[in-house]
Amino acid sequence: MSAFKALWVTENSEGGTTIEITERDSSALPAGEVLVQVSYSSLNYKDALSASGNKGVTRNYPHTPGIDAAGTVLESSVAEFNPGDEVICTGYDLGMNTCGGFAQQIRVPAAWLLKRPQGLSLREAMVLGTAGLTAALCVDKLEKAGVEPGQGPVLVTGATGGVGSVAVKLLAQLGYEVVAATGKEAEHELLLSLGASAVISRAELAANANKPMLKEQWAAAVDTVGGELLFNVVKSLKYGGSVACCGLTAGTNFNANVFPFILRGVNLLGVDSVELPLVVKASMWDKLSLQWKLDLSALVREVSLHELPAAIEQILAGQATGRTLVKLR
Ligand code: NDP
Repeated sequence: MSAFKALWVTENSEGGTTIEITERDSSALPAGEVLVQVSYSSLNYKDALSASGNKGVTRNYPHTPGIDAAGTVLESSVAEFNPGDEVICTGYDLGMNTCGGFAQQIRVPAAWLLKRPQGLSLREAMVLGTAGLTAALCVDKLEKAGVEPGQGPVLVTGATGGVGSVAVKLLAQLGYEVVAATGKEAEHELLLSLGASAVISRAELAANANKPMLKEQWAAAVDTVGGELLFNVVKSLKYGGSVACCGLTAGTNFNANVFPFILRGVNLLGVDSVELPLVVKASMWDKLSLQWKLDLSALVREVSLHELPAAIEQILAGQATGRTLVKLR
């Protein structure tokens, strides 16, 4: 038994949530094979949904969000992990209905854990976090669909966000011509510095949503926002182009028609980073630690547990930029 600090979200009488930092004991953590001392976590949009009482993410409160965690094994009842091993955990039920990484300790099934990839420190792994893993999965899925540098511009929507900004950086590093779409006028320079060759406004992308088809523009796209914007992207893919769809900040629904699919043969590709088999996650982390290793220092800000509630407000308001690393130790 040992005490540790955790972000603690409770439901309040006004129908919202109250967030505080509390002291918990490892004996109160859920059952699981491996107890981990968490060094770093990271803030993702889904964590903000969990912290604000979204029942689609977290059914029961009180709760500790945090879908990402990286740290050191304290106790293990399985042979694959030993005290002192450095591990990372992203997705599955962590931070959803299992107390998550916004705490100095987590206890999880061994089947959710990966040994830290050799080419990444625990800190670097959490600078990437679920957002970085998802950006990589999007690019991987596009490449498996035949997308290559030189075919034309690749659009990234929600480009200043966690997934979007890592996607811009990764695509540019791989030699793609990247066009970044953002709602943040003030961040165009940041996007250009990450390697985007042009920046367009979210409003420009949203135009002409009533038309069945739009001018062919993008060889491919990483869409982190969903909603009607996503279908405008589908309608402006070049012949045979593909869009990887992973997010919902602009909405969960869109009005669709079949024309882009049957007249231009475009592909709408779904990306999930949560329930992905561990071996696939491992191969993507290995890639991110070697040939797809990124310098994300321009994108990171580090917060403590105490600074996290303000960062949660910011990401919920669509105002966050880049990646927010949470330092637990
Ligand atoms: P962030 O909040 O960091 O980024 C989202 C970005 O979307 C914002 O920065 C903003 O970018 C844009 N945005 C915000 N509000 C709106 C709006 N109303 N309309 C259009 N664009 C908007 O979130 P993450 O990067 O952590 O996650 C992005 C999305 O991907 C989320 O929906 C998240 O749930 C999803 N996700 C899915 C995963 C999966 O496995 N499928 C894994 C990880 C994330 P800008 O101002 O530049 O336009």
